[in-house]
Amino acid sequence: MVATPIGNLEDITLRALRILREADMILAEDTRVTRKLLSHYGIHTQLASYHEHSTDSATEHYVHCLLSGKNVALVSDAGTPAISDPGDRLIARAVTAGIPVIPIPGVSAALAAMSISGIAGGRHAFVGFPPRGRSDRRAFFLALRDVADAIVLYEAPQRIAACLQEALATLGDRDVLIARELTKRFETIFRGSLSRAIADLTHEKPRGEYTVVIKPPEASPPTSPEEDLVKAKLAEAAESGLPPREAARMVAEATGLSARDAYRRLAEMKGNA
Ligand code: SAM
Repeated sequence: MVATPIGNLEDITLRALRILREADMILAEDTRVTRKLLSHYGIHTQLASYHEHSTDSATEHYVHCLLSGKNVALVSDAGTPAISDPGDRLIARAVTAGIPVIPIPGVSAALAAMSISGIAGGRHAFVGFPPRGRSDRRAFFLALRDVADAIVLYEAPQRIAACLQEALATLGDRDVLIARELTKRFETIFRGSLSRAIADLTHEKPRGEYTVVIKPPEASPPTSPEEDLVKAKLAEAAESGLPPREAARMVAEATGLSARDAYRRLAEMKGNA
């Protein structure tokens, strides 16, 4: 698995160039994209195409090539193969067939963005592309609400605004780093809150490739046993289906909280759901 640049063609390792030159065959996500890289470096290795729509019989064919002793390099259009990119099916089959699968490490947009985030001491959860559909995207972000590390994701320009809006609605107005067109001519790096990033996006049509790093939630203060009881009763009341005032009274009786505070906290929970 050979990592290739995500823009600037200089971002390739000497080892990657040697492997691409010495391999018996290079499998590429899009041969036209890879041909540009190869011709830039004067590499003439045989190219074949392997992508997410490649058939199982294509996978078997390349496993057979590997078993017959051929060295096969796999690349994607940009960055590290199999990181939100094709490759994992072939890797899984090769591993089952006892073929060694070796990384030739290099650039990945996620790692490049994380490396300049200065967030969370390098602790990140990489989640790839959020789902495209609205409700799936909401469920996706809701499931990330309690992740204590920074969240790193990829997004296409036509969905970046909707993605950030969903993140704001579900995670709150956290700080983000938005790395756009890394290593390319129009590289831009935004640092600020989600709400400011969304406001900025309304000024011009989003273009290019985006990697987003979302700051983890502020550490919440340790809770007391009383607060744990309040939270449990609030959750119970919220799910009871009782009218709001009755639900608040139930919480107040069980916890000693005033009915007004219970009502307010139930309303807040509803607003965050
Ligand atoms: N395997 C690749 C890697 O390791 O970086 C990622 C492939 S994924 C199909 C493509 C996504 O990566 C883009 O939609 C964008 O979110 C992100 N990406 C790729 N190149 C980028 C760049 N130059 N700047 C920022 N993000 C980039």
